[in-house]
Amino acid sequence: MSERVYKPETLALHAGYRADPATGAVAVPVYQTTSYQFRDTGHAASLFALEEFGNIYTRIMNPTCDVLEQRISALEGGAAALAVSSGQAASALAIQNIAQAGDNIVSSTDLYGGTWNLFANTFRTMGIEVRFVDPVDPDNFRRATNERTRAWYAETLPNPKLTVFPIAEVAAIGSELGVPLIVDNTAAPLLCKPFAHGANIVVYSTTKYIGGHGTSIGGLIVDGGNFDWEANAKRFPMLNEPDPSYHGAVWTEAVKPIGPVAYIIKARVTLLRDLGPAMSPFNAFQFLQGLETLPLRIGAHCRNASAVAEFLHDRPEVQRVIHAGSHTDPEQRRRAEAYLDGGYGGLVGFELKGGKAAGRAFIDALELFYHVANIGDARSLAIHPATTTHSQLSAEEQLASGVSDGYVRLSIGIEHIDDILADLSQALDRVAAS
Ligand code: PLP
Repeated sequence: MSERVYKPETLALHAGYRADPATGAVAVPVYQTTSYQFRDTGHAASLFALEEFGNIYTRIMNPTCDVLEQRISALEGGAAALAVSSGQAASALAIQNIAQAGDNIVSSTDLYGGTWNLFANTFRTMGIEVRFVDPVDPDNFRRATNERTRAWYAETLPNPKLTVFPIAEVAAIGSELGVPLIVDNTAAPLLCKPFAHGANIVVYSTTKYIGGHGTSIGGLIVDGGNFDWEANAKRFPMLNEPDPSYHGAVWTEAVKPIGPVAYIIKARVTLLRDLGPAMSPFNAFQFLQGLETLPLRIGAHCRNASAVAEFLHDRPEVQRVIHAGSHTDPEQRRRAEAYLDGGYGGLVGFELKGGKAAGRAFIDALELFYHVANIGDARSLAIHPATTTHSQLSAEEQLASGVSDGYVRLSIGIEHIDDILADLSQALDRVAAS
């Protein structure tokens, strides 16, 4: 391709691939193979020694996954990416790549429940402490940081609160202290470009909007290539000291000739090698199909979700609407405008006046919406968190996380808006009549 900087709609179709060199196939082939024939013993030795980059074994790299990695990296404006088996694997590896027992990270309190569990419980058993802070004040990240802090972590558009994270404000403090910011951008692909605001690593659950069709579980880690690991060598011994698992390689040195990709290469050749959560080539193919139409779909999700928020505001059964475009707090409004470009995402929450009973009655009355614990599907989805995803939390914990008894979470799909509103309307009518 020429030097032209292509727009996202074009990159989503073309980045990282131009016809299969062996067959001329235009669609990215599914390279469903475990291993790759070496040319000779010299070639094999140089691949293992990282003197030459090429395919060895699909747990560590695969040509179908490679196109997905290149494509998402181009869309994000990153240096390189790594495909993994799930969004959970992406967030776990993103941190395990630079933190070990005795270290800590500082995370926003506003997180997906699975990430919360990983951080609060599983990482603790591994000796990695997670210090949770409220992102209302960016300085909370500074206050919780010490010399063993290896990263800061947040979600761009966390549900159920749907308050946008102050990426640039927190990243600026991180760059002063030499701490990288990892952002889970699952709920806002294309709408938010975290690297443009100073974030250093982006993670995705591709299971959601990137796949878009509810067929496959997967995740991605994208390296912004914009954090100076060497300048902060004391904080990052895992990247700056000899790695005994790779014949003493010092990652910041070893990959210098190919660019600022020490972080992502290390994740691939040590963590993926040792822990093994690789993305299957078939799932990578599914995510590539999803990515091709993501620019079209995300706009439709946003338009439909904004129309749903507007519709819910006018319904007498509804106490409060939660939507990134509907905040009344001026700072929350500012953040939504500053970080979301082209729409406010596909998620909408609302509180029913009738509490828990009304929440359950509403969900049971839906006819078009699917009742599932997922977001980001092309179809519209709904769930009542107080009796499902958040049911293990105490009443106080539920409220702190933004879940009231009558809270309903909607992931608005790309059906015709008239059909979406008709289903919501008939379900609310039935709540009112019950
Ligand atoms: N991050 C966010 C924001 C999510 O919503 C989810 C799943 O719901 C995950 C990460 C985990 O992704 P996966 O289910 O692909 O492991």
